[in-house]
Amino acid sequence: MKSIKLLCFDLDDTLWLSDPVIQRAEVTFYTYLNDVAPALTARFSPEALRSHRLAYLTRYPELKHQVSRWRLASLSDALKISGYSSQSDDIAQKAFSIFIEARQKITLFPHCEKIIEELSKHYMLISLTNGNADLGLQAVSQYFTASYKAEQLNAAKPDPALFLKALSIASCSPEEAIHIGDNIIDDITGAKSAGLLTIQACLKADSPAPHTLADDHFTDWLELPKKIEQLRIR
Ligand SMILES: [Mg+2]
Repeated sequence: MKSIKLLCFDLDDTLWLSDPVIQRAEVTFYTYLNDVAPALTARFSPEALRSHRLAYLTRYPELKHQVSRWRLASLSDALKISGYSSQSDDIAQKAFSIFIEARQKITLFPHCEKIIEELSKHYMLISLTNGNADLGLQAVSQYFTASYKAEQLNAAKPDPALFLKALSIASCSPEEAIHIGDNIIDDITGAKSAGLLTIQACLKADSPAPHTLADDHFTDWLELPKKIEQLRIR
């Protein structure tokens, strides 16, 4: 029987489906820009703006784990290119706030909140995300002891930094923790290399098959407590 003290959770595509949220946030972001900076949207289609953002990262690789600062700085640069030199930072800041607000409009997977509440009675829960979703804005955050984003630690999963941070908050060893997430590289390989047990979230229609490195997987939140229990007694 293992002693499990900590459950770490990825957010996007683990607690909620991420694609529709990001797509809606991108549309809201671009629509706003079209209203306030038409010279920008005349020059940059949504795809071109995305390409510009990616190219910006090759110039400023230090922004790699700073997803919010990266979006803000690359937009400000695109605004300058489009002739909004003195207003570029202000417009970028407002457009980013609109994006980030839309980014938080998530819908939890069925049964997620109820299961999280139940698990929080037995384990410490900590969320670890590479994105800029803010769990603190969701009611379900009341069950979490802490939430970390890659941008806070300037290191993204699969780097062990986020996992080690969670272990230190919970004062437990890697064998006493399970990481639950959907991404094979970031979540499964990353948590495994930090020594944690792993459960792969396979909750999307096109989720990758359960990876051999994952200790288990689940396809519905209702299955998760049993999967955790099975790992504990294994
Ligand atoms: Mg994810």
